[in-house]
Amino acid sequence: VQTERFQDTLLEKDEKYVWHSMKPYNPKATIVAERAEGSWVTDVDGKRYLDAMAGLWCVNVGYGRTELADAAYEQLKEMAYFPLSQSHIPAIKLAEKLNKMLGDDYVIFFSNSGSEANETAFKIARQYHQQKGDYQRYKIVSRYRAYHGNSIGALAATGQAQRKYKYEPLAPGFIHVSPPDSYRDDTNVSDPMQLSSVQDIDRTMTWELSETIAAMIMEPIITGGGILVPPDGYMKAAEAVCKKHGALLIVDEVICGFGRTGKPFGFMNYAVKPDIITMAKGITSAYLPLSATAVRKEIYDAFKGTEEYDYFRHVNTFGGNPAACALALKNLEIMEKENLFERSRELGEKVLNELKTLLQEHPYVGDVRGKGLLIGIELVKDKGTKEPLDVRLVNQVIAICKDNGIIIGKNGATVAGYNNVLTLAPPLNIEEKDLNFLVKTLTEALNQIK
Ligand code: PMP
Repeated sequence: VQTERFQDTLLEKDEKYVWHSMKPYNPKATIVAERAEGSWVTDVDGKRYLDAMAGLWCVNVGYGRTELADAAYEQLKEMAYFPLSQSHIPAIKLAEKLNKMLGDDYVIFFSNSGSEANETAFKIARQYHQQKGDYQRYKIVSRYRAYHGNSIGALAATGQAQRKYKYEPLAPGFIHVSPPDSYRDDTNVSDPMQLSSVQDIDRTMTWELSETIAAMIMEPIITGGGILVPPDGYMKAAEAVCKKHGALLIVDEVICGFGRTGKPFGFMNYAVKPDIITMAKGITSAYLPLSATAVRKEIYDAFKGTEEYDYFRHVNTFGGNPAACALALKNLEIMEKENLFERSRELGEKVLNELKTLLQEHPYVGDVRGKGLLIGIELVKDKGTKEPLDVRLVNQVIAICKDNGIIIGKNGATVAGYNNVLTLAPPLNIEEKDLNFLVKTLTEALNQIK
């Protein structure tokens, strides 16, 4: 049996040797995890946590699925690696499967991370216009508050200044517009073309000159910027505006994809047909690194030149490696067999309604929103002014939850103090009793700070 001291010893080494992302080093807040099963993670001292953030790393089918480990193991024994400048069976099968899920009009380029999938999309979009003889279109439009990755291009597309300013200059040619925010800005109008966030896209593309715009990238629901569920009709109207200006529509499904929002892909909630779709994390339920950029056949066909300079000059050594592809195929099989997309929709609706009822009188709960098992609770100081709640209080809720055995997170672009949206995203196969425990523990934690 491990003692309390074991975690402390490890944390001493951790502080010495591991550079953590995105947080000041805080041993008290650090979990040294050792094992995980279903929706539960166990630390080195045997304390168990319900991982309600698993969905942000997209462990969609839950932890401990030995079928997934076996699929990777068998493939590693059979053939560990071969590049996709040539081909192999797992990549062919997975591309075929993804194309089928997307409605049979897409060709797939594999990479390893969400950032790379987005970089690939930007390069494809820029070159596509050139293949068509249009050399002026290079600008990529994205939304403030969205996160699209850590590399110089994907970070340029990201709309969160505080993540960017220390690394500038980033890639040029990235333009930002306002995100849809049903809670703060976008009042419900009958014609979605009249939404201020849609008009901002139209105006910006006009002012920037339509003929310079290559593409617009958007998540169906902005996750990192605070679980911004758009008003009905937003995405369809945004798609129409992109078409009007000759821009491709890239949809970032890195978090929303693979059932998180109650459909196979998030865009399927909004009846649009993206030109390019990027996906990562949930494609393997986070068991191995893999990402993909799905591109409409018509765009792919524009690259089929006869000269060498027509090729897509972009290579990714480990993208689509055989073991990750084999594991992804098994992962998709599990999701379908266990009906996890539908389960996400049903459970999500139920939890959302429960939380709305339980928290409606809470003085700090401004908004409860979400789709499927992706839920945000926006905390404010004052429901009238909607001033964001002090982040120290938000952190206190997260810490109380942790003490009581639940890992939840917070999101929101920290600019202007918007880091006030508690985020819940458990595995899609979470047991209902665990979901009840989550709701109860979170509600109690919120009641402790009022
Ligand atoms: N897009 C979105 C919407 C994301 O949330 C993330 C990661 N959180 C990325 C892209 C980048 O993915 P990765 O960290 O795998 O590069």
